Amino acid sequence: MPQGVIVKALSGYYYVLPEGADLRTAVTITCRARGIFKKKNVSPLVGDQVTYELTENGEGTVTEIFSRSSELIRPPIANVNLVVLVFAVTEPVLNLQLLDKFLVHIEHTGIDVLLCFTKRDLLAEGDATETKEMTVAELDRIHKLYTDIGYDVLTTSSKLHEGVDAIQQRLKGTVSVFAGQSGVGKSSLLNEMISGLELETNAISQRLGRGKHTTRHVELLPLEDGGFVADTPGFSQLDFMELEVEDLGSCFKEFAVLAEGCKFRGCLHLHEPSCKVREAVSEGTVAASRYEHYLLFLNEMKDRKRRY
Ligand code: GDP
Ligand code: ZN
Repeated sequence: MPQGVIVKALSGYYYVLPEGADLRTAVTITCRARGIFKKKNVSPLVGDQVTYELTENGEGTVTEIFSRSSELIRPPIANVNLVVLVFAVTEPVLNLQLLDKFLVHIEHTGIDVLLCFTKRDLLAEGDATETKEMTVAELDRIHKLYTDIGYDVLTTSSKLHEGVDAIQQRLKGTVSVFAGQSGVGKSSLLNEMISGLELETNAISQRLGRGKHTTRHVELLPLEDGGFVADTPGFSQLDFMELEVEDLGSCFKEFAVLAEGCKFRGCLHLHEPSCKVREAVSEGTVAASRYEHYLLFLNEMKDRKRRY
């Protein structure tokens, strides 16, 4: 039976891109789902690897869904294996607390992340103390902070078409979703990456809410060199609803290994004796900003628990 990937789902139809199809000529097969899925209470998702059967009218029926390696709820996509976390170097001001919050959420899903700093063309040369803008030196420091933790970091400028090839290389063969605040340049970057794509850019029009009340469908865009990228941002709403206080530490990548050496199992790295994370903070091997954000998020989570 032929196989393919669901690249779009709309009003009960699933659009399947046949496996191995030439993207320049390929057309998707419009499919219905087999009744059995409803009975089993599973519905096909965008991103699903499926088998399908062709029917007489040139349409098809999805007959089997392969098991998923991941399943996102917002946006609803299966088998995403990379989140591209996008932050602008400035405009809006680079907020590391928010960045760490996004990272916690992504770590919690277990999906790989690529950190992408956009709008490199807006960097200021010179001394960080003289100007409030983000400087080259300051971005280098932040870049190092996150590569030292073990994250993949790229810097791009859609305006100057810089770093776009590097990101294309990294996305090859992956199923990715872009995440980040509105206005950081996600749509611009996608437009640069995918020829012929013309997503609407400019944060203002988005914030004024065109599309806010219209439910948009999710679509996976095939990449020339293999793989797919979702045309919609992920992780726009961040709350720690599903995260337990004890799990927060493991979502700070560099804490996770250290925590194995903490004296107490389930150490929250607060005031417990012989805490390896706190030791690393005082030695400077864990960045103060990261620990500070950890404490902030921990309090946020405790507050929330108290309220509900
Ligand atoms: P999104 O909301 O994350 O999708 O962001 P957009 O792609 O809509 O971009 C928001 C604004 O930032 C738009 O006005 C873009 O023109 C601008 N922008 C995007 N990328 C760059 C860039 O690399 N350099 C500069 N200077 N501006 C950019
Ligand atoms: Zn500890």
